[in-house]
Amino acid sequence: HFISFEGPDGAGKTTILQAMVDHYRKRLKDQLTITREPGGNPISEAIRSIILDKENTEMDSRTEALLYAAARRQHLVETILPALQQNHVVFCDRYVDSSIAYQGAGRMIGEKAVYDMNLFATEGELPEKTIYLDVPSELGLKRIMTNRTDDVDRLDLEKLDFHQRVRDSYLKLAKEYPERIVVIDASQDLETVKGDTIKILDQVIK
Ligand code: C5P
Ligand code: MG
Repeated sequence: HFISFEGPDGAGKTTILQAMVDHYRKRLKDQLTITREPGGNPISEAIRSIILDKENTEMDSRTEALLYAAARRQHLVETILPALQQNHVVFCDRYVDSSIAYQGAGRMIGEKAVYDMNLFATEGELPEKTIYLDVPSELGLKRIMTNRTDDVDRLDLEKLDFHQRVRDSYLKLAKEYPERIVVIDASQDLETVKGDTIKILDQVIK
């Protein structure tokens, strides 16, 4: 089972993903693969360091989108597909939806263009289920401000309208793929969000 976790900044994706690992580890033992993109193998890690290099402020949006797609391709081939082949449950921290929302809508390259580019990169390989942690942009940003001082720089660059475009794009995707993408209200308290997520995943991981 291929399961991706998505959400705008401050949705609590990292926390929920860790909680799901803690919850399912006992049941799945070594049949659980936890991975994040871009990364997980030498090529994707190298691409990741280019994307995340804070000095590279001149990076063009399409360059960024292509790099994410390239890293995703390598990560799919080297990590995700082999794990699925071995019947692993794969928890993937972000996947194609992130690019559509962040590069397509956030950076305004266009969601269709980014979707098409990723169709090439992934040959249409999509998660069986996507947990989309939805949070209003104001609340998401407020959480980042109070919890993660290291992200404040990024926050200055990517203001509220950027985050709103990202969120709107995710919500549009959820409407377009209602079978795959499950919207979870991540503005609720942590225990409730955890419970809601487990309820969904229990239907997939039987
Ligand atoms: O998953 P995480 O919250 O750690 O993501 C870190 C940042 O990477 C996001 O806040 C987002 O700005 C950026 N990102 C992006 N495009 C992607 C994936 C992540 O801009 N496709
Ligand atoms: Mg995070």
